Amino acid sequence: MSTSLASHVRRNAAALLALLMGLLVTAGATTYIRRGVSLRRQQLFDDATADGSVALQQRLDVYQAMLLGTRGVFTGSEAVERREFRAYTESLEVRQRYPGIQAVGLARWLSRDELARHEARMRQEGFPQYRVWPEDAREHHAVVDLVEPFDVNNLRVLGFDIMSEPARRAALERAMRSGLPAATGKVQLVSEPLDQVAQAGFVIYVPLYAGMVEPTTPQARGERLEGFVFGAFRMKDFVEGLRFQGFQSTIDLTIYDGATVSEPARLYTSHPGAPDAGGLRQQLTVQVAGVPWTLVFTTREAFMRGTRSSHPFTVAGGGLLMSLLLFLVTRAQVNARALAEQASAEHRRLADEAQAAVRVRDEFLSVAAHELRTPLTSLKLQLQLLFRQLRQPGPLDAERLERGVETCERQTTRLTKLVDSLLDVARLSSGRMELQLEDVELGELVRELARRFEAEAQAAGVRLEVDAPEPMTGRWDRLRLEQVLTNLMSNALKYGHGAPVDVRVRGDAERARVEVQDRGIGIAPEDAARVFDRFERAVSSRHYGGLGLGLFITRQLVEAHGGRILLESRPGEGSTFIVHLPRAGPGPPGQK
Ligand code: ADP
Repeated sequence: MSTSLASHVRRNAAALLALLMGLLVTAGATTYIRRGVSLRRQQLFDDATADGSVALQQRLDVYQAMLLGTRGVFTGSEAVERREFRAYTESLEVRQRYPGIQAVGLARWLSRDELARHEARMRQEGFPQYRVWPEDAREHHAVVDLVEPFDVNNLRVLGFDIMSEPARRAALERAMRSGLPAATGKVQLVSEPLDQVAQAGFVIYVPLYAGMVEPTTPQARGERLEGFVFGAFRMKDFVEGLRFQGFQSTIDLTIYDGATVSEPARLYTSHPGAPDAGGLRQQLTVQVAGVPWTLVFTTREAFMRGTRSSHPFTVAGGGLLMSLLLFLVTRAQVNARALAEQASAEHRRLADEAQAAVRVRDEFLSVAAHELRTPLTSLKLQLQLLFRQLRQPGPLDAERLERGVETCERQTTRLTKLVDSLLDVARLSSGRMELQLEDVELGELVRELARRFEAEAQAAGVRLEVDAPEPMTGRWDRLRLEQVLTNLMSNALKYGHGAPVDVRVRGDAERARVEVQDRGIGIAPEDAARVFDRFERAVSSRHYGGLGLGLFITRQLVEAHGGRILLESRPGEGSTFIVHLPRAGPGPPGQK
């Protein structure tokens, strides 16, 4: 499994590499585009928050400028009448032009001794119930004297001693000492409308000094202080008048009093109760008349949705598709190339085989020519000799003539055998071999052949012995079986080195077995299979004649009978050829 996987991977390495490269490029491009989208989103958000904080500060500046202008009305004038002040604020159109402003007014700086006179004056001016509140014994009071617009809510502020409240007092003291506008932190306005949802608020105080020229030292400022012009603001109305990109539709703003985010100090939020959408967030601090405010800008889901882009998906999808195509194309190319290589290898193999076959054939032709030439030469010599004897004057030597004719006959037989072998090979190759089956007794046949070889064996000084204790009859082709045994026995004599040759016949009810054993040169293991092939020889034709066809024909004939031929041999120790034959003859094709 794992090796097949490994080979699969190896075969497709180039295509996989192309796929990998494609995927890497796709991943890179997608990341790049995504980065671009998120940078663009961040840029939009940063621009909006910058606009928002600038707008807030500009608004605070404009409101402070308005308060400074209001102070100018009082500077240097002996007394500003309530009517005059109202006319002034009406001309400013404070409520319309300065959203979030609840009250503009003046608080007088009074010492303890001046309180009674102040209250008396106010009662005289048409406020019979007037008194300074809350009643607290302290050295200085900052009492609200003028307030506009003069409605029910603001009316409540008249007579309020601002010094009585610590948060406001701190702002007053800062303003007095610095001569600059000073804001309170988060407060609940005294004039907060009772008929509306309560909002957080803050107040800005601008100190008012006696004389036309502003005092420059804290001490002089304390001495010449006359009061404070103040502006009271409702936070929600104040902030919601701001305009910047996305405010309250896609971007939220929350403002805290102080330099840190803390829920109790929250002045305003444009998304009360909304959960954090987990988008972008920007926190910055601005200075508001001497106190820090923390602004927190956050994005709504709508902002993220609006700035989302389908480009990364398009790029990723397109890239994946391209990678896949690249993979398929590369694989197809690699496969085509492998096929072409295979075909050319097959072609080379066939060409090599053809060349080898031609070589074998040429070799065979030269061997065959040599083999045929030997008996032919001898035949020709004998015929010339006979011819000369016949032409000789005088009586014919009958014995000599007989010997000559015998030699001629022997050579002719040898030639016939060679030609028969060649014919057999041709017949076997074309499948035209037909067996004539009859009952043959194998022991008998072996003994008869041994008798035929007797002369040859004697001439070679070889003892040829047959051991066939029991009759072994089977349905075989007698002539072809003769051919098989003749081949094996003549090889045993030829390659047997003059040592004894044994032929044994054995078998059982089913099968017969013939063993031809010699004690001659033997066959090397690497040649054992080859010697049964056509034209194959394990010895040189210079030492031993032969066409290399005998064993080929032998094996073909044995197999045609449904049998097998085996070889047991060791070089230098001799060979044993063992032929197994089914006694019932060759079975129908396919059962052999
Ligand atoms: P040939 O004998 O004509 O060469 P064969 O087909 O009969 O052809 O034998 C093929 C080869 O097998 C021989 O050339 C020889 O090398 C080897 N061979 C056959 N029989 C024997 C044997 N009994 N002992 C050793 N070698 C043998």
